[in-house]
Amino acid sequence: MKYLKLLFLIVIINFNLGAQNKLKLENIGLANNVYVIKNVNIIPMTTDNKIITNAIVVIKNEKISSINSDSIPKKGKIIDGRGKWLIPGLIDMHVHTNADLNFKENSATQGATFFMNTQDVMTTYIVNGVTTIFELGGRVEHFGQRNEIAKGKVIGPRMAIASMLNGGDNNGGRIVNNASDARQAVRSAKAEGYNFIKAYSDLNIESFHAIMDEAQKQGLKVVGHIPDVFKGKTKEAFVPNFGLVAHAEEFSKQIRNKEKTEKDAQTFAFMSKANNTWLIPNLIAIKTIRDQVQSIDSIRLMKTLKYVHPLLQDKWLNANNYNKHSSPEFLNYLDSLITFHKQLVVAFKKAGVPMVAGTDAGVSGVVTGFALHDELELLVEAGLSNEEVLISATRRPSEWLGINEMVGTVEIGKYADLILLNANPLENIRNTREIRGVFVNGKWVDKNKIEEMLSVLADWNTLMKEGYEWKNRREY
Ligand SMILES: [Zn+2]
Repeated sequence: MKYLKLLFLIVIINFNLGAQNKLKLENIGLANNVYVIKNVNIIPMTTDNKIITNAIVVIKNEKISSINSDSIPKKGKIIDGRGKWLIPGLIDMHVHTNADLNFKENSATQGATFFMNTQDVMTTYIVNGVTTIFELGGRVEHFGQRNEIAKGKVIGPRMAIASMLNGGDNNGGRIVNNASDARQAVRSAKAEGYNFIKAYSDLNIESFHAIMDEAQKQGLKVVGHIPDVFKGKTKEAFVPNFGLVAHAEEFSKQIRNKEKTEKDAQTFAFMSKANNTWLIPNLIAIKTIRDQVQSIDSIRLMKTLKYVHPLLQDKWLNANNYNKHSSPEFLNYLDSLITFHKQLVVAFKKAGVPMVAGTDAGVSGVVTGFALHDELELLVEAGLSNEEVLISATRRPSEWLGINEMVGTVEIGKYADLILLNANPLENIRNTREIRGVFVNGKWVDKNKIEEMLSVLADWNTLMKEGYEWKNRREY
Protein backbone atom coordinates (compact mmCIF):
# COMPACT_ATOMS: atom_id res chain seq x y z
CA MET A 1 0.00 0.00 0.00
CA LYS A 2 2.79 2.33 0.98
CA TYR A 3 4.56 1.65 -2.33
CA LEU A 4 1.42 2.25 -4.33
CA LYS A 5 1.06 5.60 -2.67
CA LEU A 6 4.69 6.40 -3.42
CA LEU A 7 4.26 5.40 -7.04
CA PHE A 8 1.22 7.61 -7.28
CA LEU A 9 3.21 10.49 -5.82
CA ILE A 10 6.03 9.98 -8.30
CA VAL A 11 3.62 9.98 -11.24
CA ILE A 12 2.00 13.17 -10.02
CA ILE A 13 5.35 14.85 -9.38
CA ASN A 14 6.56 13.98 -12.86
CA PHE A 15 3.37 15.35 -14.32
CA ASN A 16 3.83 18.51 -12.31
CA LEU A 17 7.45 18.97 -13.30
CA GLY A 18 6.35 18.52 -16.91
CA ALA A 19 3.84 21.32 -16.53
CA GLN A 20 6.45 23.47 -14.86
CA ASN A 21 8.98 22.95 -17.63
CA LYS A 22 6.38 23.85 -20.22
CA LEU A 23 5.72 27.03 -18.33
CA LYS A 24 9.42 27.88 -18.36
CA LEU A 25 9.82 27.24 -22.08
CA GLU A 26 6.93 29.54 -22.82
CA ASN A 27 8.62 32.22 -20.76
CA ILE A 28 11.80 31.91 -22.76
CA GLY A 29 9.81 32.06 -25.99
CA LEU A 30 8.42 35.42 -24.96
CA ALA A 31 11.83 36.96 -24.41
CA ASN A 32 12.20 38.96 -27.60
CA ASN A 33 8.60 39.78 -28.35
CA VAL A 34 7.28 43.23 -29.10
CA TYR A 35 4.31 44.52 -27.12
CA VAL A 36 2.06 47.49 -27.69
CA ILE A 37 -0.04 48.59 -24.71
CA LYS A 38 -2.89 50.76 -25.96
CA ASN A 39 -5.01 53.40 -24.19
CA VAL A 40 -3.28 52.98 -20.86
CA ASN A 41 -2.89 55.47 -18.01
CA ILE A 42 0.75 55.77 -16.94
CA ILE A 43 1.84 56.65 -13.42
CA PRO A 44 5.52 57.15 -14.27
CA MET A 45 6.84 57.70 -10.71
CA THR A 46 9.34 60.22 -12.08
CA THR A 47 10.15 63.24 -9.90
CA ASP A 48 7.24 65.27 -11.28
CA ASN A 49 5.11 62.10 -11.64
CA LYS A 50 2.79 63.66 -14.20
CA ILE A 51 0.16 61.09 -15.14
CA ILE A 52 -0.07 60.34 -18.86
CA THR A 53 -3.60 59.29 -19.79
CA ASN A 54 -4.71 57.17 -22.72
CA ALA A 55 -1.14 56.46 -23.84
CA ILE A 56 0.48 53.96 -26.21
CA VAL A 57 3.50 52.22 -24.79
CA VAL A 58 5.79 50.08 -26.94
CA ILE A 59 8.05 47.47 -25.36
CA LYS A 60 10.84 46.04 -27.48
CA ASN A 61 14.04 44.19 -26.69
CA GLU A 62 13.24 44.14 -22.99
CA LYS A 63 12.93 47.94 -22.79
CA ILE A 64 10.31 50.66 -23.05
CA SER A 65 11.09 51.83 -26.58
CA SER A 66 8.44 54.53 -26.96
CA ILE A 67 5.56 56.30 -25.24
CA ASN A 68 2.98 57.99 -27.47
CA SER A 69 5.14 57.75 -30.59
CA ASP A 70 3.54 58.03 -34.06
CA SER A 71 5.34 54.99 -35.36
CA ILE A 72 3.89 51.86 -33.86
CA PRO A 73 5.39 48.51 -34.86
CA LYS A 74 3.02 46.52 -37.07
CA LYS A 75 3.99 43.22 -35.55
CA GLY A 76 3.60 42.91 -31.86
CA LYS A 77 1.23 41.68 -29.23
CA ILE A 78 -1.47 44.24 -28.48
CA ILE A 79 -2.45 44.67 -24.85
CA ASP A 80 -5.64 46.56 -24.11
CA GLY A 81 -4.88 49.16 -21.46
CA ARG A 82 -8.30 50.81 -21.36
CA GLY A 83 -9.20 51.82 -17.80
CA LYS A 84 -5.91 50.39 -16.57
CA TRP A 85 -2.88 51.87 -14.86
CA LEU A 86 0.76 51.21 -15.61
CA ILE A 87 3.29 51.57 -12.77
CA PRO A 88 6.94 50.52 -12.38
CA GLY A 89 7.57 47.02 -11.02
CA LEU A 90 7.89 47.02 -7.24
CA ILE A 91 11.15 46.69 -5.31
CA ASP A 92 11.35 44.88 -1.96
CA MET A 93 14.41 46.21 -0.15
CA HIS A 94 14.61 43.56 2.56
CA VAL A 95 14.15 39.89 1.75
CA HIS A 96 15.55 36.51 2.70
CA THR A 97 14.93 34.23 -0.26
CA ASN A 98 14.95 30.46 0.15
CA ALA A 99 17.81 28.75 -1.63
CA ASP A 100 19.54 25.37 -1.58
CA LEU A 101 21.15 24.64 1.76
CA ASN A 102 23.05 22.10 3.73
CA PHE A 103 21.37 20.60 6.79
CA LYS A 104 24.25 18.18 7.34
CA GLU A 105 28.00 18.23 7.75
CA ASN A 106 30.03 19.56 4.84
CA SER A 107 32.20 16.98 3.15
CA ALA A 108 34.84 17.16 0.47
CA THR A 109 32.48 16.62 -2.42
CA GLN A 110 29.15 17.65 -1.01
CA GLY A 111 27.59 21.07 -0.70
CA ALA A 112 23.87 21.52 -0.37
CA THR A 113 21.71 18.61 0.76
CA PHE A 114 18.31 20.27 0.55
CA PHE A 115 17.17 21.78 -2.72
CA MET A 116 14.69 24.45 -3.63
CA ASN A 117 13.24 24.77 -7.12
CA THR A 118 14.29 28.28 -8.10
CA GLN A 119 11.14 28.95 -10.13
CA ASP A 120 9.00 28.01 -7.14
CA VAL A 121 11.02 30.36 -4.97
CA MET A 122 10.66 33.24 -7.44
CA THR A 123 7.01 32.76 -8.46
CA THR A 124 5.56 34.60 -5.46
CA TYR A 125 7.64 37.69 -6.29
CA ILE A 126 6.65 37.75 -9.94
CA VAL A 127 2.91 37.21 -9.51
CA ASN A 128 2.91 40.13 -7.07
CA GLY A 129 4.72 42.48 -9.43
CA VAL A 130 7.92 42.46 -7.36
CA THR A 131 10.53 42.75 -10.09
CA THR A 132 13.58 43.66 -7.96
CA ILE A 133 14.61 42.34 -4.56
CA PHE A 134 17.41 43.18 -2.15
CA GLU A 135 18.67 39.96 -0.58
CA LEU A 136 20.04 40.78 2.87
CA GLY A 137 21.31 37.34 3.77
CA GLY A 138 23.32 36.70 0.63
CA ARG A 139 24.92 33.28 0.01
CA VAL A 140 26.61 31.75 -3.03
CA GLU A 141 23.32 29.97 -3.79
CA HIS A 142 21.68 33.34 -4.40
CA PHE A 143 24.27 34.09 -7.10
CA GLY A 144 23.25 30.78 -8.66
CA GLN A 145 19.60 31.83 -8.63
CA ARG A 146 20.48 35.17 -10.19
CA ASN A 147 22.30 33.36 -13.00
CA GLU A 148 19.35 31.05 -13.63
CA ILE A 149 17.13 34.13 -14.01
CA ALA A 150 19.64 35.87 -16.28
CA LYS A 151 19.84 32.77 -18.50
CA GLY A 152 16.07 32.80 -18.90
CA LYS A 153 15.63 29.43 -17.23
CA VAL A 154 13.62 30.99 -14.47
CA ILE A 155 11.32 33.97 -14.52
CA GLY A 156 12.30 35.99 -11.50
CA PRO A 157 13.19 39.43 -10.18
CA ARG A 158 16.46 41.35 -10.44
CA MET A 159 18.52 40.50 -7.38
CA ALA A 160 20.78 42.82 -5.44
CA ILE A 161 22.73 40.75 -2.91
CA ALA A 162 24.36 41.81 0.36
CA SER A 163 26.95 39.86 2.31
CA MET A 164 26.36 39.74 6.04
CA LEU A 165 29.12 40.62 8.50
CA ASN A 166 28.65 39.94 12.18
CA GLY A 167 30.63 39.76 15.41
CA GLY A 168 30.76 37.24 18.26
CA ASP A 169 31.88 33.72 17.46
CA ASN A 170 29.14 31.73 15.78
CA ASN A 171 26.27 33.99 14.87
CA GLY A 172 25.97 33.36 11.15
CA GLY A 173 27.49 35.50 8.41
CA ARG A 174 31.18 36.40 8.22
CA ILE A 175 32.49 36.83 11.73
CA VAL A 176 34.78 39.77 12.40
CA ASN A 177 35.85 41.06 15.80
CA ASN A 178 38.51 43.61 15.01
CA ALA A 179 39.15 46.34 12.46
CA SER A 180 41.64 44.50 10.30
CA ASP A 181 39.45 41.38 9.98
CA ALA A 182 36.50 43.61 9.20
CA ARG A 183 38.38 45.34 6.38
CA GLN A 184 39.55 42.03 4.97
CA ALA A 185 36.01 40.62 5.09
CA VAL A 186 34.71 43.60 3.12
CA ARG A 187 37.43 43.14 0.48
CA SER A 188 36.73 39.39 0.28
CA ALA A 189 33.00 39.99 -0.17
CA LYS A 190 33.78 42.41 -2.98
CA ALA A 191 36.11 39.90 -4.65
CA GLU A 192 33.36 37.28 -4.50
CA GLY A 193 31.00 39.57 -6.38
CA TYR A 194 28.90 41.19 -3.66
CA ASN A 195 27.86 44.77 -4.34
CA PHE A 196 26.56 45.47 -0.83
CA ILE A 197 27.48 44.78 2.77
CA LYS A 198 25.03 44.09 5.58
CA ALA A 199 26.27 44.95 9.06
CA TYR A 200 24.70 42.90 11.84
CA SER A 201 23.80 43.25 15.53
CA ASP A 202 26.79 41.66 17.29
CA LEU A 203 29.56 43.72 15.70
CA ASN A 204 31.76 45.69 18.08
CA ILE A 205 32.34 49.41 17.59
CA GLU A 206 35.79 49.06 16.07
CA SER A 207 34.65 46.50 13.49
CA PHE A 208 31.48 48.41 12.62
CA HIS A 209 33.41 51.62 11.91
CA ALA A 210 36.06 49.73 9.94
CA ILE A 211 33.36 48.09 7.79
CA MET A 212 31.83 51.45 6.92
CA ASP A 213 35.18 52.96 6.02
CA GLU A 214 36.54 50.03 4.03
CA ALA A 215 33.25 49.52 2.19
CA GLN A 216 33.33 53.17 1.16
CA LYS A 217 36.88 52.77 -0.14
CA GLN A 218 35.79 49.69 -2.09
CA GLY A 219 32.68 51.39 -3.47
CA LEU A 220 30.18 49.21 -1.61
CA LYS A 221 27.15 50.62 0.17
CA VAL A 222 26.22 49.35 3.60
CA VAL A 223 22.78 48.44 4.93
CA GLY A 224 22.57 47.35 8.49
CA HIS A 225 21.30 46.78 11.91
CA ILE A 226 22.50 49.16 14.60
CA PRO A 227 24.73 46.88 16.70
CA ASP A 228 23.63 46.42 20.31
CA VAL A 229 26.92 47.85 21.55
CA PHE A 230 25.76 51.34 20.50
CA LYS A 231 22.98 51.39 23.10
CA GLY A 232 23.08 54.71 24.91
CA LYS A 233 25.35 56.22 22.24
CA THR A 234 23.38 55.53 19.07
CA LYS A 235 24.80 58.60 17.37
CA GLU A 236 28.24 56.98 17.20
CA ALA A 237 26.84 54.42 14.75
CA PHE A 238 25.97 57.16 12.29
CA VAL A 239 29.21 57.46 10.40
CA PRO A 240 29.71 58.05 6.66
CA ASN A 241 28.60 55.21 4.36
CA PHE A 242 26.07 53.79 6.82
CA GLY A 243 23.54 54.13 4.04
CA LEU A 244 20.42 52.33 5.18
CA VAL A 245 18.89 51.03 8.41
CA ALA A 246 17.32 47.62 7.86
CA HIS A 247 14.34 47.96 10.24
CA ALA A 248 12.62 50.62 12.35
CA GLU A 249 13.13 48.06 15.12
CA GLU A 250 16.84 48.89 15.10
CA PHE A 251 15.95 52.19 16.74
CA SER A 252 13.54 50.72 19.29
CA LYS A 253 16.19 48.15 20.26
CA GLN A 254 18.52 51.02 21.12
CA ILE A 255 16.05 52.13 23.81
CA ARG A 256 14.64 48.70 24.59
CA ASN A 257 13.89 49.10 28.28
CA LYS A 258 12.76 52.70 28.20
CA GLU A 259 9.48 54.27 27.35
CA LYS A 260 9.58 55.21 23.69
CA THR A 261 8.35 58.70 22.84
CA GLU A 262 7.77 60.94 19.85
CA LYS A 263 10.82 62.88 20.99
CA ASP A 264 12.95 59.71 20.62
CA ALA A 265 11.57 59.22 17.12
CA GLN A 266 12.53 62.79 16.26
CA THR A 267 16.03 62.41 17.66
CA PHE A 268 16.61 59.29 15.53
CA ALA A 269 15.18 61.01 12.47
CA PHE A 270 17.56 63.99 12.83
CA MET A 271 20.47 61.63 13.43
CA SER A 272 19.67 59.78 10.21
CA LYS A 273 19.07 62.95 8.25
CA ALA A 274 22.41 64.44 9.28
CA ASN A 275 24.24 61.31 8.11
CA ASN A 276 22.16 60.76 4.95
CA THR A 277 21.13 57.33 6.25
CA TRP A 278 17.86 56.06 4.79
CA LEU A 279 15.35 53.79 6.52
CA ILE A 280 13.49 50.58 5.70
CA PRO A 281 10.58 50.90 8.17
CA ASN A 282 9.66 47.20 7.81
CA LEU A 283 6.31 47.33 9.62
CA ILE A 284 4.84 44.06 8.36
CA ALA A 285 7.36 41.75 10.07
CA ILE A 286 6.58 42.98 13.61
CA LYS A 287 2.84 42.92 12.92
CA THR A 288 3.08 39.34 11.64
CA ILE A 289 5.21 38.32 14.62
CA ARG A 290 2.74 39.94 16.99
CA ASP A 291 -0.18 38.08 15.42
CA GLN A 292 1.49 34.67 15.75
CA VAL A 293 2.57 35.38 19.32
CA GLN A 294 -1.10 35.91 20.03
CA SER A 295 -2.32 32.88 18.11
CA ILE A 296 -0.91 30.33 15.71
CA ASP A 297 -4.23 30.57 13.87
CA SER A 298 -2.87 33.73 12.26
CA ILE A 299 -0.49 31.41 10.37
CA ARG A 300 -2.92 28.53 9.90
CA LEU A 301 -5.54 30.76 8.31
CA MET A 302 -3.19 32.63 5.96
CA LYS A 303 -4.52 32.49 2.40
CA THR A 304 -0.94 32.52 1.12
CA LEU A 305 0.34 29.65 3.29
CA LYS A 306 -0.13 27.19 0.43
CA TYR A 307 2.52 29.08 -1.55
CA VAL A 308 5.13 28.48 1.16
CA HIS A 309 7.50 25.50 0.94
CA PRO A 310 6.02 22.61 2.99
CA LEU A 311 9.11 22.40 5.20
CA LEU A 312 8.61 26.02 6.23
CA GLN A 313 4.86 25.60 6.58
CA ASP A 314 5.64 22.90 9.12
CA LYS A 315 8.20 25.08 10.87
CA TRP A 316 5.87 28.06 11.10
CA LEU A 317 2.99 25.96 12.39
CA ASN A 318 4.67 23.33 14.56
CA ALA A 319 8.04 24.76 15.60
CA ASN A 320 7.06 28.39 16.00
CA ASN A 321 9.46 30.06 18.42
CA TYR A 322 7.51 33.30 18.55
CA ASN A 323 4.36 31.50 19.63
CA LYS A 324 6.32 29.29 22.04
CA HIS A 325 7.45 32.38 23.94
CA SER A 326 4.01 33.90 24.02
CA SER A 327 3.22 35.95 27.12
CA PRO A 328 1.17 39.07 27.88
CA GLU A 329 4.43 40.97 28.45
CA PHE A 330 5.80 39.95 25.07
CA LEU A 331 2.55 41.00 23.39
CA ASN A 332 2.64 44.36 25.18
CA TYR A 333 6.22 44.88 24.10
CA LEU A 334 5.36 44.12 20.45
CA ASP A 335 2.37 46.48 20.64
CA SER A 336 4.64 49.22 21.95
CA LEU A 337 6.98 48.61 19.01
CA ILE A 338 4.12 48.87 16.53
CA THR A 339 3.10 52.24 17.99
CA PHE A 340 6.66 53.56 18.12
CA HIS A 341 7.50 52.44 14.58
CA LYS A 342 4.56 54.43 13.23
CA GLN A 343 5.89 57.45 15.13
CA LEU A 344 9.28 56.83 13.54
CA VAL A 345 7.75 56.82 10.04
CA VAL A 346 6.04 60.15 10.75
CA ALA A 347 9.21 61.67 12.23
CA PHE A 348 11.37 60.49 9.32
CA LYS A 349 8.85 61.90 6.86
CA LYS A 350 8.88 65.27 8.66
CA ALA A 351 12.68 65.32 8.78
CA GLY A 352 12.84 64.50 5.07
CA VAL A 353 14.71 61.20 5.41
CA PRO A 354 14.03 58.93 2.43
CA MET A 355 12.30 55.66 3.30
CA VAL A 356 12.21 52.51 1.17
CA ALA A 357 9.77 49.63 1.43
CA GLY A 358 11.03 46.28 2.68
CA THR A 359 9.36 43.28 4.28
CA ASP A 360 11.96 40.97 5.86
CA ALA A 361 10.13 38.25 3.91
CA GLY A 362 11.35 34.83 4.94
CA VAL A 363 10.67 35.58 8.59
CA SER A 364 7.98 33.27 9.98
CA GLY A 365 4.63 34.25 8.45
CA VAL A 366 6.05 36.87 6.07
CA VAL A 367 5.55 35.45 2.57
CA THR A 368 7.85 36.64 -0.22
CA GLY A 369 6.09 38.86 -2.76
CA PHE A 370 2.70 39.02 -1.08
CA ALA A 371 4.09 40.75 2.00
CA LEU A 372 5.18 43.84 0.07
CA HIS A 373 1.55 44.80 -0.60
CA ASP A 374 0.85 44.46 3.14
CA GLU A 375 3.86 46.66 3.89
CA LEU A 376 2.62 49.36 1.50
CA GLU A 377 -0.74 49.38 3.23
CA LEU A 378 0.88 49.69 6.67
CA LEU A 379 3.02 52.59 5.49
CA VAL A 380 -0.14 54.44 4.44
CA GLU A 381 -1.69 53.61 7.81
CA ALA A 382 1.41 55.05 9.49
CA GLY A 383 0.93 58.38 7.73
CA LEU A 384 2.54 58.37 4.28
CA SER A 385 0.48 59.37 1.26
CA ASN A 386 -0.30 56.77 -1.41
CA GLU A 387 2.16 58.49 -3.71
CA GLU A 388 4.93 58.57 -1.09
CA VAL A 389 4.41 54.87 -0.50
CA LEU A 390 4.64 54.11 -4.21
CA ILE A 391 7.83 56.16 -4.41
CA SER A 392 9.25 54.10 -1.52
CA ALA A 393 8.75 50.89 -3.51
CA THR A 394 9.86 52.09 -6.96
CA ARG A 395 12.06 55.12 -7.68
CA ARG A 396 13.65 55.58 -4.24
CA PRO A 397 14.98 52.02 -3.87
CA SER A 398 16.27 52.06 -7.44
CA GLU A 399 18.23 55.19 -6.48
CA TRP A 400 19.66 53.63 -3.33
CA LEU A 401 20.69 50.50 -5.20
CA GLY A 402 22.19 52.60 -8.00
CA ILE A 403 20.01 51.03 -10.70
CA ASN A 404 17.82 54.07 -11.36
CA GLU A 405 19.10 54.35 -14.92
CA MET A 406 17.63 50.87 -15.54
CA VAL A 407 14.41 50.58 -13.55
CA GLY A 408 12.24 52.35 -10.98
CA THR A 409 10.18 54.60 -13.29
CA VAL A 410 8.12 54.25 -16.45
CA GLU A 411 10.31 56.09 -18.98
CA ILE A 412 11.64 55.50 -22.47
CA GLY A 413 14.89 53.53 -22.38
CA LYS A 414 14.24 51.86 -19.05
CA TYR A 415 13.88 48.10 -18.77
CA ALA A 416 10.26 47.03 -18.94
CA ASP A 417 9.72 46.02 -15.32
CA LEU A 418 6.10 47.10 -15.08
CA ILE A 419 2.75 46.28 -13.51
CA LEU A 420 -0.54 46.76 -15.32
CA LEU A 421 -3.20 47.42 -12.68
CA ASN A 422 -6.97 47.30 -12.98
CA ALA A 423 -7.37 50.30 -10.67
CA ASN A 424 -5.50 53.44 -9.66
CA PRO A 425 -3.14 52.93 -6.69
CA LEU A 426 -2.94 56.69 -6.08
CA GLU A 427 -6.61 56.53 -5.07
CA ASN A 428 -6.23 53.47 -2.87
CA ILE A 429 -2.94 51.75 -2.13
CA ARG A 430 -4.73 48.38 -2.03
CA ASN A 431 -5.07 48.71 -5.78
CA THR A 432 -1.44 47.56 -6.17
CA ARG A 433 -2.95 44.09 -5.63
CA GLU A 434 -5.31 44.47 -8.60
CA ILE A 435 -2.82 43.03 -11.06
CA ARG A 436 -3.82 42.45 -14.69
CA GLY A 437 -0.30 41.44 -15.65
CA VAL A 438 3.38 42.03 -15.01
CA PHE A 439 6.27 42.82 -17.35
CA VAL A 440 9.43 41.20 -16.08
CA ASN A 441 12.47 42.40 -17.99
CA GLY A 442 10.24 42.88 -21.05
CA LYS A 443 8.40 39.57 -20.72
CA TRP A 444 4.64 39.75 -20.34
CA VAL A 445 3.16 37.60 -17.62
CA ASP A 446 -0.59 38.02 -17.85
CA LYS A 447 -3.30 37.13 -15.37
CA ASN A 448 -3.78 33.64 -16.83
CA LYS A 449 -0.12 32.84 -16.55
CA ILE A 450 -0.07 34.25 -13.02
CA GLU A 451 -2.90 31.90 -12.04
CA GLU A 452 -1.10 29.00 -13.73
CA MET A 453 2.20 29.73 -11.97
CA LEU A 454 0.43 29.98 -8.62
CA SER A 455 -1.46 26.74 -9.06
CA VAL A 456 1.68 24.83 -10.11
CA LEU A 457 3.31 26.07 -6.92
CA ALA A 458 0.37 25.40 -4.60
CA ASP A 459 -0.21 21.92 -6.07
CA TRP A 460 3.38 20.88 -5.53
CA ASN A 461 3.45 22.24 -1.97
CA THR A 462 0.20 20.49 -1.08
CA LEU A 463 1.28 17.24 -2.65
CA MET A 464 4.60 17.20 -0.80
CA LYS A 465 3.25 18.34 2.55
CA GLU A 466 3.43 14.98 4.27
CA GLY A 467 7.02 14.51 3.19
CA TYR A 468 8.49 17.39 5.16
CA GLU A 469 8.73 17.91 8.88
CA TRP A 470 10.92 20.58 10.41
CA LYS A 471 11.97 18.31 13.27
CA ASN A 472 13.41 15.84 10.73
CA ARG A 473 15.35 18.45 8.75
CA ARG A 474 18.78 17.07 9.72
CA GLU A 475 17.90 13.98 7.74
CA TYR A 476 17.23 15.90 4.53
ZN1 LIG B 1 16.15 40.53 7.62
